[in-house]
Parts: sequence; structure tokens; C-alpha cells
Amino acid sequence: MHDCLFCKIVSGEIEPQIVLETEQVLAFKDIHPAAATHVLVIPKRHIAGMEDVVTGDAMLLGELLLVAKAAAARTGIAKTGYRLVINTGENAGQSVFHLHVHVLGGRKMAWPPG
Ligand code: 5GP
Ligand code: ZN
Repeated sequence: MHDCLFCKIVSGEIEPQIVLETEQVLAFKDIHPAAATHVLVIPKRHIAGMEDVVTGDAMLLGELLLVAKAAAARTGIAKTGYRLVINTGENAGQSVFHLHVHVLGGRKMAWPPG
């Protein structure tokens, strides 16, 4: 049985705070924000992570970034700046295995990340 948290958000079984939505992509607030603004942008179709992305997903990947940009504008962090993050695998600390772009902003961030 396919049991994926973000697929449940796409199906409506779990109701997130939606920031914006397109035919293929959904942007919603992270439940445990790591910054004043923390949005997650996901494809509605299940893809476990970057290692499962193929060449044919190029348009979808582009749309994820465009929706991330639009979510930054919608949440008011476009001018002050924001960080886009895709955690991939164990060392990066990926915890939900449905591809997602973090949109983080509203505070000054350090580099390199921890
Ligand atoms: P990862 O660690 O895989 O890069 O990011 C997963 C993110 O999903 C975390 O920032 C976590 O707070 C968020 N998250 C986990 N469960 C839920 C949930 O039920 N709803 C929402 N909106 N975010 C969640
Ligand atoms: Zn999924």
C-alpha cells in the first residue's frame, strides 16, 4: 500500500494551509516552520525525491521553481530574499519521501547551512 503524507495532502485527506496551486503543483505552509516564512512546494504526482526524477520531468521541475518563486512573492519575502532547498537522502536529512522544495524566508540565514 502506498502510504505517503504529501499524497494525502494532495488528495485532501490532510488539509494544509495552501499558499497556491497549479494543475500539477501545490504550495502549502510547513507545519513546523524553520523560518518566519516556510512553504513547501510539491508535485501533485508522487515522486520520492530528486534521485527519482528523470529527464522527462524537466518541465515539472521548472514549474516547481516557478511556483516557489510565486509563493515567495505571495508570502511577502521576495524583496528581502529567500532560500530554496531540496533535501535529498539521508545526509541531507530528507524526512518525507515525496519531492518538495522548501521556500524559506523572513529572517537572515547563515551559509554554509548546518
Ligand atoms: P524534509 O525534512 O523531508 O526536507 O522536509 C519535510 C518537511 O515536511 C519538514 O519541514 C516538516 O516540518 C514538514 N512536514 C512534515 N509533516 C507535515 C505535515 O503533516 N504537514 C505539513 N504542512 N508539513 C509537514
Ligand atoms: Zn507522495
